Order: sequence, then structure tokens, then C-alpha cells
Amino acid sequence: MKAGIVGLPNVGKSTLFNCLSNAKAQSANFPFCTIEPNVGVVNVPDSRLEKLESLVNPERVQPAVVEIVDIAGLVKGASKGEGLGNQFLGNIRETDAILHVLRCFEDDNIVHVDGSVDPVRDKETIDMELQLKDLETVDKKLEKVKRAAKIGNKEAQKEEAALLKVKKGLEAGKSVRALTELTAEERDEFIANLQLITDKPVMYICNVDEKSATSGNGYVDKVKEAVKDENAEVIFLAVGTEADITELDDYEERKMFLLDIGLDEPGSAKLIRSAYRLLNLQTYFTAGVKEVRAWTIPTGSSAPQAAGVIHTDFEKGFIRAEVIAYDDFASFGSEAKVKEAGKMRVEGKEYIVKDGDVMHFRFNV
Ligand code: GDP
Repeated sequence: MKAGIVGLPNVGKSTLFNCLSNAKAQSANFPFCTIEPNVGVVNVPDSRLEKLESLVNPERVQPAVVEIVDIAGLVKGASKGEGLGNQFLGNIRETDAILHVLRCFEDDNIVHVDGSVDPVRDKETIDMELQLKDLETVDKKLEKVKRAAKIGNKEAQKEEAALLKVKKGLEAGKSVRALTELTAEERDEFIANLQLITDKPVMYICNVDEKSATSGNGYVDKVKEAVKDENAEVIFLAVGTEADITELDDYEERKMFLLDIGLDEPGSAKLIRSAYRLLNLQTYFTAGVKEVRAWTIPTGSSAPQAAGVIHTDFEKGFIRAEVIAYDDFASFGSEAKVKEAGKMRVEGKEYIVKDGDVMHFRFNV
């Protein structure tokens, strides 16, 4: 899964990116890599994985990961090619979710591109560029569908109607994710495959100053009020302060500074977990002596689908899965003891995987 960080210049995007992708902030025995300067792979913090590691003592541990892309260069006029506009809008299209950073801190030393701190206005500026970009996509599609609709193709007529709803909404300054006039069917059949930018799930990240790290501030309240119909998550984070803390070499020292501003874990950990939830993802584990690993699946996946994340052959040749609930594994302490207690289940093709299941697949090759 891939999340793109957007926002106006100088709101704290690169600071957040650096903070999230800081290798020091991630547990030393977990691999970390930066693919490109603006693309990083971030581990999803999960205390269950640490527990499994301590019980199984494997050679390797692999947490679930989220790919983060810092999408700089979005400014007013980007959809018309201002700045580096179009190229970056292309990058956003490839992401599964959007992390929209809003400046909710005052600091006269940091220039605001529009002269004052106003996160709701900033959000609308960015939204408008994204909406204009989507409008281009929708107009192109409409051109293609129109002719077939005109000569009486029923399916094309339905598609045209759905596209016109989206066009109207975008022209009125609404994001596609917030359009209540679209039916679920229209979304599934005609809109989802367009990969519209404003249809992607979004999380608003209010960048606050240090003293608002645990309480938020008036700007955050305004953002919450402004997005209440969008079905989006809003979180606040003292990005600058957290970035300074992640620079510290010593783990205990980092912990102390976090406690000092009132946090028991980095806000970035909370952010990554929220992003995971936002996408309706969940985790199952495999726990062998070679490797203990967290795998990411969409909530509601069946056992064969979950197996398919490891290898497509696992899905095709799926026979059954041996499943241990995480809590059972943790309380009995080993696979052998779980078996002894009769708590290991054998599940078939229809089984819907639960968050935290420890799984072992049997399959034909
Ligand atoms: P970007 O253009 O959105 O990527 O913004 P940057 O991350 O480069 O940040 C712009 C400037 O704001 C830098 O000088 C940062 O040090 C500063 N900055 C970022 N976050 C905060 C913050 O929470 N508080 C304060 N006071 N400054 C911040």
C-alpha cells in the first residue's frame, strides 16, 4: 500500500516524510529502505509482532509496511501546469491514500505562501487543484461514452449519468469521495476504475506546535468542522518537534523527550496505524523459526486470498489453513502448547481471516 503526502509548500511535508522514514526511529533489527529520495518504506508499528518475536525467536522479523511518497510541488495552478504541477499530480494518482498536511502552527520565521496561517483555506486550495485534475479525467471519459449513449447503448447511458453527477459535483467544488448522490453501484461500475484523486481515502494531518502536541488547537478545530461531511480522519501532530526527537540517537532519550511533550509513543506511529485503518487493511501473521512476519490484507479477505498475498500458488492450490488466534498464541506461548490445549483450528476456503490470526497454509503445487 502506498500513501502520498500532499499540502502547500512550507506546511511541513518533507519534515513529516523525514520523520516517518527516519531509520533510527525504526527498530534496529527491522529492515528499512528509501527507494528514491521522496519514497520511503515505513514499518507499521505493531506490539503483537514484537511479542511473537520474543516467543518464537526467529532468524528474521518482517513487519507490515506502508510506502510513503512525498509529493512536493503542489501549488495554486498546478492542474494547469504551474510549478511542477502535472508531473506531481501523476504521482498522486498511483497512491492508495492521501495524507494531506495542513499548517496549524504559527511561526513568523516560516513563510506562508498565502501570507497567513489558515488551514481551511489551504485545504481548499489543494482540493481545488485535485478536483480540476479529476474534472479533466471525467471530461475525457465523457467524450468517449457520449456517442454510444446517443445511439441507445443502455450501459453507456448509465455510465454517462454517473459521470455527469461526478462532473457536477467537482464543478461545485466537492471531492468525489464526498458525493452522496452517487449510488454504490455507480461507484463500483463506473467510477472506481477511473482512480480519481479526490475519490481516494484521505487523512488530514494538522501540523501543530509543540505545546499543542497532546491537545490540538483552534486551527485543528476549524479543520475538523470543515471536513465533517467528508468521512475523513483528522489527526494532529507536532511534526517539527517529533522530527527533532527522531534525530536523537539514544532510544531512552527519545522516549524521555516524547514523555516531556506528553506522548507515550511517537505521533508518527499513530499516524501509520491510522493510515492502515483508513484503507480497511488488517494484519495476519506467519510465525516460523526462519521468519516471523506480518502480512497485509484487506479486511474481509478469505483464507485463500490471504494465502495469495504470500504467493499466488498458495491461493490457487489452497487446501486448508491452520489458524491460531493471536491472543491464544500469546497466552499459551508456543504453537505446541496451543495445539495441546486444542486451540488450533483447521479452516477451509470459506474462512474469513480475522485481524491478528497466526496462520499456516497447506496447499497443492
Ligand atoms: P514542505 O515544503 O511542506 O515540505 O515543508 P518543510 O517540511 O520543508 O517545512 C518548511 C519549514 O517549516 C522548515 O523550515 C521546517 O523546519 C518548518 N517546520 C516544519 N514543521 C514545523 C512545525 O511543526 N513547527 C515549526 N515552527 N516549524 C516547522
